[in-house]
Amino acid sequence: MSESYAFIGLGHLGGNLAASLIRNGFAVTVFDRNPAAVESLVALGATAANSPAEAAAKAGNAISCLPSPKVSEAVLAGPGGLIEGLPEGGTWIEMSTNGRDEIVRLAALASAKGVETLECPVTGGVHLAAVGKITALVGGDAALYARHRTAIEAMCAKSFLMGPVGSAAVIKVITNMLAFIHLVAAGEALMLAKQGGLDLAQSYHAIVASSGNSFVHETESQLILNGSYDIGFTMDLALKDLGFALAMGEQSGVPLDLASHVKAIFEQGKAAYGGSAWSTQIVKLLEDAVGTELRAPGFPAKLEG
Ligand code: NAD
Repeated sequence: MSESYAFIGLGHLGGNLAASLIRNGFAVTVFDRNPAAVESLVALGATAANSPAEAAAKAGNAISCLPSPKVSEAVLAGPGGLIEGLPEGGTWIEMSTNGRDEIVRLAALASAKGVETLECPVTGGVHLAAVGKITALVGGDAALYARHRTAIEAMCAKSFLMGPVGSAAVIKVITNMLAFIHLVAAGEALMLAKQGGLDLAQSYHAIVASSGNSFVHETESQLILNGSYDIGFTMDLALKDLGFALAMGEQSGVPLDLASHVKAIFEQGKAAYGGSAWSTQIVKLLEDAVGTELRAPGFPAKLEG
């Protein structure tokens, strides 16, 4: 019999992950403080609960996908939180992006109540989550991973067990750091192409086939050229993740010149366009500075998986 799951945090990412579980036949009980998010999952077949504790008690295992470690802590260990509802031996699968210290601390809170933790941050973007093809980075006990692997594979095309709890946070923060650096670099590259008088669509395709290509260029440059910037991931989340990267660099004595500079650029982006602007809009800083937009026909407003 397949496990049943509570799913807390049905935002841009979590809503798609929960929908993948439902599509694959799992019984899913949902909670989000936003009733509209709950309604859209109920329409797909989820059961609604009135609190994380109620959802967890019904399902026996719980997944969360939340915007910050502070919210994760409240949902896990606050009043009406998951720990109140999960049975002893139940599992908490944390799919939010956290720093290593945060997830290790939260897992200890869960463990003190007999709840085991699997950290499972994901990478690849909302468009891949929407079709169950995002990548999972897993930290935790190998037997626990095996127990929940069917559910993880219902949401994610690939999964990598990185080591004990905390190790997935490290690789997740590293890969996001690379992605934000690549995003700023892709914007600079396209602007040089435009100011150099090149056709931007042709430049996009030439870069895809070149040694300067990146996953971020292949995906997010399309949203820049379309002008929608709609990546489903905000400036606030980018700043959170860059903060984790810089803290890791400080703790481990690794100077992160590029990441520091890119974080300062995202702080400017947040000041200019707000924390809930799409992270891809960071390139608009350069468009505004140069006084021209990076647009070309033939690119989608949203990415498809
Ligand atoms: P989001 O802001 O779209 O969604 C967060 C959801 O949590 C919202 O529906 C919100 O209502 C809900 N929420 C907030 N506080 C709550 C509370 N106290 N109780 C219950 N629900 C609460 O964020 P997102 O883009 O879905 O990202 C979620 C996590 O996944 C973040 O940690 C982010 O860094 C990570 N992530 C996002 C993406 C992406 O492409 N969006 C990709 C990889 C990782």
